[in-house]
Amino acid sequence: MSKFWSPAVRDLTPYVPGEQPRERLIKLNTNENPYPPAPGVEAALRDFPADHLRRYPDPQSNALREALAAELGVTADQVFVGNGSDEVLAMAFQAFFRQERPLEMPTISYSFYPVYCRLYGIERRTHALDAEWRVDLEAFGQSAGGVIFANPNAPTGHGHDREAIAGLLERVTDSVVLVDEAYVDFGGESAVPLIERFPNLLVTSTFSKSRSLAGLRLGYAVGSRELIEGLERIKDSFNSYPVDSLASALGIASLADRGYFDACREAVITTRERTRDRLETLGFEALPSQTNFVLVSHPDFDAAQLFVGLRERGILVRHFNTDVLRDHLRISIGTDDEMDSLIEALESLCR
Ligand SMILES: *Cc1c(COP(=O)(O)O)cnc(C)c1O
Repeated sequence: MSKFWSPAVRDLTPYVPGEQPRERLIKLNTNENPYPPAPGVEAALRDFPADHLRRYPDPQSNALREALAAELGVTADQVFVGNGSDEVLAMAFQAFFRQERPLEMPTISYSFYPVYCRLYGIERRTHALDAEWRVDLEAFGQSAGGVIFANPNAPTGHGHDREAIAGLLERVTDSVVLVDEAYVDFGGESAVPLIERFPNLLVTSTFSKSRSLAGLRLGYAVGSRELIEGLERIKDSFNSYPVDSLASALGIASLADRGYFDACREAVITTRERTRDRLETLGFEALPSQTNFVLVSHPDFDAAQLFVGLRERGILVRHFNTDVLRDHLRISIGTDDEMDSLIEALESLCR
């Protein structure tokens, strides 16, 4: 607390990201990709002329937006890019959700959403997940000053198909529905093809997970021209150059290699299913997952203690100390070797 802070700063509850340890641990706590970025990214990094950094980047990031548009089957004016999807989400909250009516979201979803609500003074209304821990799409649309959820959801892993999302959009037509697809490449179905039909649909995604570029900070949104223009108005009132020229070049290089991208996500999916089976053999309950993590609990062992035991054995996972999630661990999918070490450690802890 400081007397120099603006009054509103005292009331904030900032997001706490997963730990980035300095020692060498098997790091399964922040859903990073265990595989390196596409080889073309390294080549583009080597070839990038340092002299380009003398100039400001293109404020519209046109080259990157065109590359993304081609990849997603939309036009460049339906794409917005930012410095990580967290920033894109922050701009979307400002552009669309500062309304008279509350913003609707699931009780369990990405924990940054309530943080943005506080930052921007947005009231929220939460809806419980259904009995299988899926986002209850039926519940949305009562008060809607907007709707936001992750699909597939975090940290639960379940994703609704496109038809289900279309059903929601048929009902909620007069406010923005934001679908956060940070994990969609690991087995989910993208809602992007629906943007032509629904001008109030905004889909966000990121290069951090499926493209192994969390350190680069690149995220994007896809939606109707009018939504993208709303985001641009916020961007140009805040920071005209959120995406630097190096990030643009490396993002484009990543998009160029579809074969590598597909191979990496297939590897993660295969390891995930193998890991779920082995965890279940150890007596864990592991929710089905369309993401690069699994949410697990064990009927006989305390999650907080397992977290500590794993950490002592050099393995970092995520434990959320909230009422609903206290009994669970979220485990990111690493390489097969890393998951072998995880299973070995859990075998010694769960006996
Ligand atoms: C990781 C994550 C993000 C943020 O991604 P960045 O692009 O790294 O900022 C957004 N939403 C969800 C649901 C995530 O898990």
